[in-house]
Amino acid sequence: MSNPAARIRRRDTAVVAIASASVLIVLTITGSLSLSETILGSLTIFALASIYHLSVSIALSPEKKQSARPQAKTTRADATEPLSRAMLDQLPLPVLLIGADGRIERANTAARAFLVLESERGLLSASLRQPSVLEAVERALKGKASEPVEYSVLAPVESHVRALVSPLNVEIDGKFNWQAMLVLTDETPLKRAGRMRADFLANASHELRTPLASLSGFIETLQGHAKNDEEARDRFLMIMQDQTDRMRRLIDDLLALSRVEMDEHVPPDDIEDLAIISREVLEFLRPQLSRRQMTLDTNIQSEALAVGDRDQMFEVIQNLVENAIKYSPPDSVLHLSVEADLERQAVERAPNFLPGDISKMTLAVPDEESGTRYTVIRVRDQGKGISRRDLPRLSERFYRVGGQKSGPKEGTGLGLAIVKHIINRHRGGFAVESAPGTGSVFSVYFPSGKQSEGLNPGA
Ligand code: ADP
Repeated sequence: MSNPAARIRRRDTAVVAIASASVLIVLTITGSLSLSETILGSLTIFALASIYHLSVSIALSPEKKQSARPQAKTTRADATEPLSRAMLDQLPLPVLLIGADGRIERANTAARAFLVLESERGLLSASLRQPSVLEAVERALKGKASEPVEYSVLAPVESHVRALVSPLNVEIDGKFNWQAMLVLTDETPLKRAGRMRADFLANASHELRTPLASLSGFIETLQGHAKNDEEARDRFLMIMQDQTDRMRRLIDDLLALSRVEMDEHVPPDDIEDLAIISREVLEFLRPQLSRRQMTLDTNIQSEALAVGDRDQMFEVIQNLVENAIKYSPPDSVLHLSVEADLERQAVERAPNFLPGDISKMTLAVPDEESGTRYTVIRVRDQGKGISRRDLPRLSERFYRVGGQKSGPKEGTGLGLAIVKHIINRHRGGFAVESAPGTGSVFSVYFPSGKQSEGLNPGA
């Protein structure tokens, strides 16, 4: 059966051709045209009508229309394909589309990296061996929704993932099919932060509970059998005083740590002289130094400017000098040096300061900002030193090197954690060098606010 539109066009062609032929015949009869002109005109009208008739029939034939439709559709889909692929690839979340046969139809860049996929079109079960996720995908391929699924991987590194699987009803070749969209979220940093918070609370309560338990024990003893023992009472009261001091130090350090953490993302912008601040710290700690009969050896430049917060810079130097006093034997020498305006390489690649079997560890580094110059403070002691194994953990909260005695005033294990946070806030660096049996050198460096001249494009 022919198409109605084609029929109408053919009829119109015939009408025009017959009308033109009639005009030609009339003109021939009236003698206006010669016979040869009439024949030529008729042939022209016939040829034009035939060409028009043929072209209309081909253009409007049903087969032609059927094959034209999907082609037009594919063209439009093809045009948006690169755009949607590029958008998916820009998404930082791993996203996958799973076909009805359980194969990966599409995986964005993040998904390919996350699941280490070599190619798309593999079976999802071959790349993700998580029964709970695969079950949710199977449900989605039947058009059923599922709750988000969480799973953990222990190797090569421990990670925690949340998988969201949604059913998608997709039209393919005019038929609707169920596919599954799988979105993965790496929850490892969140879990780790949660665990750290829980560990921190457990550690803080444990640290506070120890002196508290000791205090309540002494109170009980003083109320009981030591009630009338004057000598024991004085001794116990002194221990109780030490324990309350320890609790106060812990609370002060915890508060200091939380204050530093709160403004860690806001770098300070004052210019301070670390030469002056260092001398003030040494003056402040002079009684502690002389109590341990320690000798002070300094090499402080007359001016050592750096960008920073005065109180926090004081706190950093005080912590390092106090540690050097606490962890060194009496009669030893404590060196403190302040050097301004150094390139980062000169600070970080300085030759060893100690003889013997040296271990070095960087505990904080500045964000890469080429050309920044630094003012560095080094505190060197002749203490017992720290073993290579302990160095990386030094700035962890509550970490104390086992078996190390710091005198009657036992440390809190928070001092170096505070130093590290302050240094991070200042976009500075923090490193330690130690040789067990010989001593340690703690170095901190603050940006001096100056740039290396060689890096100035105009120079
Ligand atoms: P603390 O209050 O215990 O001194 P810190 O965070 O300042 O806490 O130090 C953590 C641990 O690092 C200390 O307990 C000590 O074991 C070790 N330490 C720090 N400074 C020195 C040093 N100069 N020499 C040897 N060990 C040190």
